[in-house]
Amino acid sequence: MIELVDVSLKYDNETTAVDHLNLKVDPGEFVFVVGPSGAGKSSIIKLLLRERIPTSGTVKVNGYDLKRIKKRAIPKFRRTLGVVFQDFRLIPNMTVFDNVAFALRVTDASAKYIKQRVPYILDLMGLQEKAKRYPHELSGGEQQRVALARALVNDPPMIIADEPTGNVDPELSYEIVTLLKKINECGTTVVMVTHEHEIVRYFGGRTISIEQGRIVFDGQIGGHDEG
Ligand code: ADP
Repeated sequence: MIELVDVSLKYDNETTAVDHLNLKVDPGEFVFVVGPSGAGKSSIIKLLLRERIPTSGTVKVNGYDLKRIKKRAIPKFRRTLGVVFQDFRLIPNMTVFDNVAFALRVTDASAKYIKQRVPYILDLMGLQEKAKRYPHELSGGEQQRVALARALVNDPPMIIADEPTGNVDPELSYEIVTLLKKINECGTTVVMVTHEHEIVRYFGGRTISIEQGRIVFDGQIGGHDEG
């Protein structure tokens, strides 16, 4: 669940990156966030992750009021989110297995659970053959699937993907979004930022268009993959 009420974010009290924004995303939704460079998309993501605190307004994510949340509760809050970035952010000297297992180890999961859970998720992402590989041995699309596996392994109620197809070949971009759609069909809320309008047109669904820190469109786009 996401609820932004009258949210503004100014950097150095000069640039208004987010301007009196109101937005609600219900559990189980799939939402595309689009807009030109500099529109404020990354700033919105930073507010949702509580990397930034709004200058004014309230930000609620997965039951946490991010303006009031105590510092010590932030790690617990962050575990309710799986996050995927454009640049994958994998750990280069760890195998695929360990990159995914790492997300579980920091939550004190048992060795037995890790041994069972990581192969299950790798299998789901079509990476069962790659468990022992290192990130540099994989294609961009494969690396992004590892990042997705890592985001999913804790079974978070929400995935936030910031330009997840930005460093992936066009054909593989569709594969990444198809995976995100499948994850969403299993009940996970997905918020995906993209500047690739072809992808949005192809898949369709709720699309929020941002310009100059404001929502200029919020509605359904047709899509071609239905039926
Ligand atoms: P997008 O992700 O849509 O490209 P951003 O959220 O990165 O947009 O940027 C929105 C506006 O805020 C832009 O005008 C950008 O220059 C400005 N901005 C982004 N980050 C900072 C920062 N750390 N300090 C000052 N201005 C920033």
